[in-house]
Amino acid sequence: MNFDAYNLAGMSDTDGLVGNPRLVVTPPFLPEEVHIVEDKLLYSKDWDMRAQRWPLKANIKGMLDHFVRIRDGQGVLQFARRYGALEMCEHDLPASHNPFEEIWMMERQFKPRLGCLPRMITWEGRSWYYDPIPQWFYSSRQARAILNLAAQLHQGEPTSKDDWAALYQGNDYSMCEADRQWRLLLNVVNGWLSLANARPCLVHNGQHVIFALGGGGTYTALAVQLMLAVTRSQDLILCSGCGHPYLREGRRPKSGQRNYCPDCHEKGVPARERKRAQRMRQRGEDSGSAE
Ligand SMILES: [Zn+2]
Ligand SMILES: [Zn+2]
Repeated sequence: MNFDAYNLAGMSDTDGLVGNPRLVVTPPFLPEEVHIVEDKLLYSKDWDMRAQRWPLKANIKGMLDHFVRIRDGQGVLQFARRYGALEMCEHDLPASHNPFEEIWMMERQFKPRLGCLPRMITWEGRSWYYDPIPQWFYSSRQARAILNLAAQLHQGEPTSKDDWAALYQGNDYSMCEADRQWRLLLNVVNGWLSLANARPCLVHNGQHVIFALGGGGTYTALAVQLMLAVTRSQDLILCSGCGHPYLREGRRPKSGQRNYCPDCHEKGVPARERKRAQRMRQRGEDSGSAE
């Protein structure tokens, strides 16, 4: 299965990437440092004392494409540098499967429940978080199988025995009815979303309060991207005017192109925003000439 197949099945966007609509997926933190030591990926995730800041947030564009292409330790290292670690706990699951309770109603007498933490180890006199690398290969193979099976089912083609084996411990469902295959496949994607503790949440993008999906780390963003790819939700995009998601009919906007929901069109928002952008440009030119 190659990436053309995902494209043919309508699962990728205009840039050919899977699971990348303009719907906002919350980005994970990037580790300060990552190392491979034997079969472990070591990473740091804390407040950076030297720089006095939290680590940078990852840009998740192309994240899922990158993840399903991981074949070796070097691939794990490159991915973790660019998109973050999976943050596996002692149960060999993403720590988000058992999240800490976040309670913002502090006036209530309530003891929040503690959850799972990523695995930790001491190396060269420092403590590090780590993921077992075999878990990375396992998750990457699962994600690849999910995309392959979804592409085959969308296209009405026979599904691959090997891909089912990767999801269901060697079982083969390739001969089942299509609707049964879909149910079995979606069970796995729903399992990812649940382990990832993926949820709707609100974020402020500097201009608007917008609806986002995710609310967790790297594994969470991957699970949401898988969901979006499998459901071909590339047409579900965010309005540049009001920040709400809407189902776009007709052609998808090119990446970086502003796009507006029917509501905003009706209210004349695109024309207003164009004028505002023009004024901003003129002001920029004016101040430029004054210097
Ligand atoms: Zn756990
Ligand atoms: Zn709008």
